[in-house]
Amino acid sequence: MTVRLTTSQGSESADPSFAEEVMGRSHAKLERCYQCQACSSGCPVAFAFDYAPHRLLRMVQFGLKDRVLDSQTVWLCASCETCATRCPNDIGIVHVMDTLRDIAIREERTAQTKLPLFHNTFLGEIRRHGRIHELTLIIQYTFASGEIFHVRKLLKDALLGARMFAKDKLVPLPKKIKGIGIVKSIFRQTERGNCSHERRNYSQERKND
Ligand code: SF4
Ligand code: SF4
Repeated sequence: MTVRLTTSQGSESADPSFAEEVMGRSHAKLERCYQCQACSSGCPVAFAFDYAPHRLLRMVQFGLKDRVLDSQTVWLCASCETCATRCPNDIGIVHVMDTLRDIAIREERTAQTKLPLFHNTFLGEIRRHGRIHELTLIIQYTFASGEIFHVRKLLKDALLGARMFAKDKLVPLPKKIKGIGIVKSIFRQTERGNCSHERRNYSQERKND
């Protein structure tokens, strides 16, 4: 069921069950959020977001599903956990971001941005090598995104790459890390749907340290 809400953007449709789904899947206590903005003021990536974390959470509370799932914030979040550490109400904002990405992919709401493509290319590199090999990442993304046809950008990137090579900032070939088996097993666990559980355990361990 959807309802109409009057917001700063005019009249928008809102889905009250969206907030319930996000809270149910992320186990984040969104009802505790009193908009103090401590999360947003500490977020190192907020300058690039279209909605700061506290605003995104408010939109989730109001069920503004379309705006939330189409936002760049969901994909630009670096999962650094600074927001969760600063939150006085112990709200698992990172779990919310994970959940929103899952829902956006499930509902195929990724057409408006290339960020999910970059996200998946990045993760593919981690899965293969356990770390990022910048050159492979850039080449794969350039082909997959169609940016190979943007000649001016390609030349600019090539010049930047040459400068980075000259300064030993790029290595020519990828190299796997020693614990690659563990990394692959984490990916398998994630595909089986244990991702949020694993992350919660990890977050709890960090808090207890
Ligand atoms: S820090 Fe916590 S309570 Fe404050 S706005 Fe962010 S999520 Fe809400
Ligand atoms: S986890 Fe995401 S939203 Fe939170 S501080 Fe880091 S980048 Fe910002």
